[in-house]
Amino acid sequence: MGRAFVYVILGGGVAAGYAAQEFVKRGVSHGELCIISGEPVAPYERPALSKGFLLPEDPARLPSFHCCVGSNEERLTPKWYKEHGIELILGTRVKSVDMRRKTLLTVTGETISYKILIVATGARALKLEEFGVTGSDAENVCYLRDLADATRLVSVMQSCMDGNAVVIGGGYIGMECAASLVINKINVTMVFPEAHCMGRLFSPRIASYYEEFYKSKGVKFIKGTVLTSFDLNSDGKVTAVSLRDGSKLPADMVVIGIGIRANTSLFEGQLTLEKGGIKVNGKMQSSNASVYAVGDVAAFPVKMFAETRRLEHVDSARKTARHAVAAIMEPEKAGEFDYLPFFYSRVFTLSWQFYGDNAGEVIHFGDFSGKTFGAYWINKGHLVGSFLEGGTKEQYEAIAKATRLKPAIEDLVELERQGLGFALTASQKPSSSSPPLVAGSSNLVIEKPLHAWYATAGVIVAASVAAFAYWYGRRRRRW
Ligand SMILES: Cc1cc2nc3c(=O)[nH]c(=O)nc-3n(C[C@H](O)[C@H](O)[C@H](O)COP(=O)(O)OP(=O)(O)OC[C@H]3O[C@@H](n4cnc5c(N)ncnc54)[C@H](O)[C@@H]3O)c2cc1C
Repeated sequence: MGRAFVYVILGGGVAAGYAAQEFVKRGVSHGELCIISGEPVAPYERPALSKGFLLPEDPARLPSFHCCVGSNEERLTPKWYKEHGIELILGTRVKSVDMRRKTLLTVTGETISYKILIVATGARALKLEEFGVTGSDAENVCYLRDLADATRLVSVMQSCMDGNAVVIGGGYIGMECAASLVINKINVTMVFPEAHCMGRLFSPRIASYYEEFYKSKGVKFIKGTVLTSFDLNSDGKVTAVSLRDGSKLPADMVVIGIGIRANTSLFEGQLTLEKGGIKVNGKMQSSNASVYAVGDVAAFPVKMFAETRRLEHVDSARKTARHAVAAIMEPEKAGEFDYLPFFYSRVFTLSWQFYGDNAGEVIHFGDFSGKTFGAYWINKGHLVGSFLEGGTKEQYEAIAKATRLKPAIEDLVELERQGLGFALTASQKPSSSSPPLVAGSSNLVIEKPLHAWYATAGVIVAASVAAFAYWYGRRRRRW
């Protein structure tokens, strides 16, 4: 025997928090909704773990970063869930799902039944062992995915002041952790196999800017090689790391950021999977009509690229969650999800945003020796992606809107010449019934939007970015 709910959210991360808020906005009744989470705390803004949480002074701590403060909205503390009659089953992992019976079995032996299930299980950090290297369990080897990892990382950092850290991986976890380690007065060497940092997103030129900035803060880079083994002392602590290129680095601590894998294992053989996640339609509904998937675990159709994608970004987690709840509560009103991919990071005094897709040819603009620069990606004659470092609220809004419009680009030289001005102009153009914009005297053409909808969506995206940027501005020190 166990409890029964109309709606069950499996997973208690970012997507769960935003889904719960949307359920309440749409009038869910007391006792209808439950969240089951392996974590012992109510949903929180996970990005804080590699930013404000790691600061040496006045660090961010719960309850300050519970969802949905990341969108400058109300903070959903455990009290909020109680007041709204939402059951939080925390510190409890689900070990199996029976879709025929519509039940979940927890590790504590409880069976929980649902009418509608929202899968929000997110992802887990990939372990070294999955690449044939042992030693993840050493006391001073850290990963960073959840609050427990972050708490452990802080404690290891505190025992390593002025010591040496090796960061394995050049993605955003590696980059953000390296910056935090430096701020905590730890000497950092980053090791990764790619030719430059943030290899999945940055162009070599963009990467070079950040690498130079990091070097100016004392960070060393060892690229084109991987970790092969650890030296351990008699206490089981890592004292050095060996690399494939034959070098050995002394280490008082190691941080591993080598990627993530979506938590789909409970659903293998029960739901259609794609791109490493649970395949859903434009209403976030899986191959089983009673099961929805949101956040990092969902592979959903990204309309503007006519492709199914699984994104690992907080904005996507928030918006897929809200859309799923809208589709569940008001199916006749909810349209197909139409999302502009958005990702950001903040390190040291730097801050960037990226919209769209980094496919095709890259055109850089701005002052790479200064504070504000960026890039556009042009694929099949259209602007499909935009990156901006050091932008203002208006500038970020502009690149978001311009990217959403997917303007046709005929003259790359002119685009480069106009730089950020191109997005600023494009974003101010009337959305419909106006002729295509010809920028300057060039052949650079911005197609007018195909539907007025694009413009509306652009404004919505811009407005949410503005709110987010404003909130960030206020919280810059803590996040
Ligand atoms: C340190 C860090 C920094 C980040 N910074 C940024 C950033 O700057 N910008 C950005 O765009 N994105 C960032 N991200 C990514 C962003 O946080 C994720 O995209 C987002 O958290 C995904 O939300 P989610 O709800 O899908 O998954 P999660 O937030 O990971 O939540 C998943 C939840 O499911 C639970 N769960 C899983 N399996 C089970 C089970 N079997 N039973 C019970 N519970 C289960 C987990 O315990 C967890 O609570 C960052 C991520 C991390 C880890």
